[in-house]
Amino acid sequence: MAIVENVDTPGPRRRLRVKSPVSLEPIGEFDCATAEDVKTAVERARKAQGAWAERSFDERAAVLWRLLDLFVERQDEIIDVVIQETGKARAEAISMEVFAPCDAISFYAKNAKKFLAPEKRKPHGLMRFGKRIRVVYKPLGVVGLITPWNGPVALAVTPTVQALMAGNAVVHKPSEVTPLSALVVKRLLDDAGLPSDLYQVVQGDGEAGAALVEAGVDKVSFTGSVATGRKVGEACGRLLVPCTLELGGKDAMIVCADADLERAAQGAVLGSCMNTGHYCCGTERIYVVEEVYDEFRDKVVERVKALRQSDAGESDVGAVFWDKQLDIIESHVADAVAKGAEVLVGGRRNPELAGLYFQPTVVENVNHGMDLMTKETFGPIVALQKVQSEEEALYLANDSDYGLNGNVWTTDAEKGFRLAERIDTGGVCVNDMAITYGVPEAPFGGVKASGVGQVNGRSGLRGYCHEHPIIADKKGRGDIQGGYPYTRKSEDGMQKFIKVFFGTRLARWLA
Ligand code: NAD
Repeated sequence: MAIVENVDTPGPRRRLRVKSPVSLEPIGEFDCATAEDVKTAVERARKAQGAWAERSFDERAAVLWRLLDLFVERQDEIIDVVIQETGKARAEAISMEVFAPCDAISFYAKNAKKFLAPEKRKPHGLMRFGKRIRVVYKPLGVVGLITPWNGPVALAVTPTVQALMAGNAVVHKPSEVTPLSALVVKRLLDDAGLPSDLYQVVQGDGEAGAALVEAGVDKVSFTGSVATGRKVGEACGRLLVPCTLELGGKDAMIVCADADLERAAQGAVLGSCMNTGHYCCGTERIYVVEEVYDEFRDKVVERVKALRQSDAGESDVGAVFWDKQLDIIESHVADAVAKGAEVLVGGRRNPELAGLYFQPTVVENVNHGMDLMTKETFGPIVALQKVQSEEEALYLANDSDYGLNGNVWTTDAEKGFRLAERIDTGGVCVNDMAITYGVPEAPFGGVKASGVGQVNGRSGLRGYCHEHPIIADKKGRGDIQGGYPYTRKSEDGMQKFIKVFFGTRLARWLA
């Protein structure tokens, strides 16, 4: 049962049909953009971008504030579409796809002007006497945005509002699994009064994504898997187009003996199962020191048994969004069980529901010989490994190709920071999990295979700009120092000066 399937059509464009993972019924069809369509979109975006870049920050922010009003007023429209095409729990559609975008819209509408204001910088050393520096943040032009299916509104809106506030246009290629959410974002931006062509959606699968990278964009903002990220990175390298690559993860959780076990158990279950486990910073492997292992495991088991899964009414754990992901989840669990892991709760598709539902699951006796502990599973699985010490937990946490996020649980605040610093990931939470993407003060991005570059906040916003230094001579008249003709006398003078300036304490004072 494929959620996305080809439709036979005579026309020049491939046509895809999408089904709901909740009902398995078709919910829409769309034509895939051709390379020519994508190029045309980029050209139109480029034409619109010039006038947009001329607008003041306040004018750009006014569009975003209207967008925020529309997000608040039309929450149900957003939530309904997201649930229809992802099957995520309603509470998660609200928190992840409405609350988080509202927070991002308001943050960048308010702060972009401050973060991107021209800056005076004082030159160091002797240059301070003769030069002035001003740095201005110039928009890059057209941003190609490529997004995955696990947060179809949030992962579209967060980069888009940053790119727009910085004065760029955006051409967005959403996932073929969630094409309808992008259209909701488009409708809301149009209704907020964003000038036409500044945000365009080109639909399609990987072919359209690859075409967007090649279509003459000035930056690629990519979120998705490691495998696709490598292809996008290679193409950007060849084209010399800057990019950020926000890729997969295999986040580890470390539970110390002095952790608040009740809170840590809550964190383990929520971190592993939220968004049906389809969360880049979801907890995928949990290392628990042996002193508290049994108590912690029992608390986790009790909580996971209490989770509700339903295709109607209140539900804690939603559908698996895509049949291809369900195959991966099933194969990782089967591989773990074949190698000696024990399933304590769940472990299979929910037989009571017709849609793509995998039961919230607890597995123990896992190890790094299993796919479940080394490859991204992206499912509602709590995987528990007993360890002898915090050092062993740390070693195992770092024994991964991925490096997105992670979390540490201890009531000793200083130890929490110390352990967190030693985890080789883009970021870490202590006594919390999965929040880094939503905290713009904390730059977000993976290390190792989890990505290239960081997004969000001040530095992320500046990443949608060229940081353009303008260096001006203070006087602007008279001879240029150090200019022609080069004479023996001027060379000797320079060498003497080097001795006096750098060979004494003078340079240290002025550096
Ligand atoms: P994916 O890599 O299969 O697809 C992502 C997007 O890339 C889709 O729009 C897809 O159509 C497009 N695409 C496919 N081939 C392409 C190509 N050759 N060139 C350009 N674009 C192409 O990923 P997915 O399955 O949609 O998403 C799940 C992955 O995303 C997981 O690995 C998850 O961890 C990751 N993710 C990362 C973050 C983060 O911020 N680090 C956030 C969310 C999801």
